[in-house]
Amino acid sequence: MLAIRPSSPLERPDFFGVATGIDLRQPLDAASLAAIEAGMDRYAVLHFPEQDISDGQQLAFGRCFGELELATGDIAQGAERRLAEPHLNDISNLGKHGEVLARDDRRRLFGLGNMLWHSDSSFKATPAKYSILSARVLTSRGGNTEFADMRAAWDTLDAATQTEIRDLVAEHSQLYSRGSLGFDDWTEAERERWRPVPQRLVRRHPVTGRLSLYLASHAGAIRGMPVPEARMLLRDLTEHATQRERVHVHRGSRHDLVMWDNRVTMHRARAYPASEVRELRRTTVADVAPTLAQAA
Ligand code: MN
Repeated sequence: MLAIRPSSPLERPDFFGVATGIDLRQPLDAASLAAIEAGMDRYAVLHFPEQDISDGQQLAFGRCFGELELATGDIAQGAERRLAEPHLNDISNLGKHGEVLARDDRRRLFGLGNMLWHSDSSFKATPAKYSILSARVLTSRGGNTEFADMRAAWDTLDAATQTEIRDLVAEHSQLYSRGSLGFDDWTEAERERWRPVPQRLVRRHPVTGRLSLYLASHAGAIRGMPVPEARMLLRDLTEHATQRERVHVHRGSRHDLVMWDNRVTMHRARAYPASEVRELRRTTVADVAPTLAQAA
């Protein structure tokens, strides 16, 4: 029987739930699916411990919640990819033949961008709804994932700031996020694929009606605002959103499955030893429309 409890009942009773009593390798019945969706609406992140699932089972679980994204945000594309299945994001430090990437490999340097606060696929015109991350091999230390509650971030802004930013539209691109780390080693095809896309800065959750900040390190401009002013505002809002009282630190274990709602959270990976294997696989449920086409 599925049970979900908050991981920090006193500090954050409505953020980061731990879900037990369910085997995600099995097809979900309607009641379990509804309970997980209700849990996602309440907690924004659900942790399912000890789920030793295959790629096929992970794909099937994701498809219960909508259409899966293609992994077009990965730097390795086509024949360069290590994973044949086009809906699996390769969250690893491995090359095509399973080798740990060299310290200066551009795929590794690109991947370091996952350590910046972000919301998955906010650089796509229609961004991600849910991400589902399965931990297959973890390093001996480091590599935590941190989650920030962007509903709480909105709720705790002062009223003047809320009014000021309520209708702003940001532009998101992986060129901005990686560029902020000094990565500018782009091919023409990558520049084209990751041209900036517009996203609302404030979103309304379609089920709960709660407002949340929609930020990511991918955001590098705000429409109608000079770039330095926009970036300063984005930095200030990100700093506010990632205050420790609104952040949950997830210390991962092998076979963890963590699922989060990108519409209302940010997350980031933390550093881990570069010489050890780290391998996770992500399936990503696409949102239904660009944020500008959704109700404000
Ligand atoms: Mn991510």
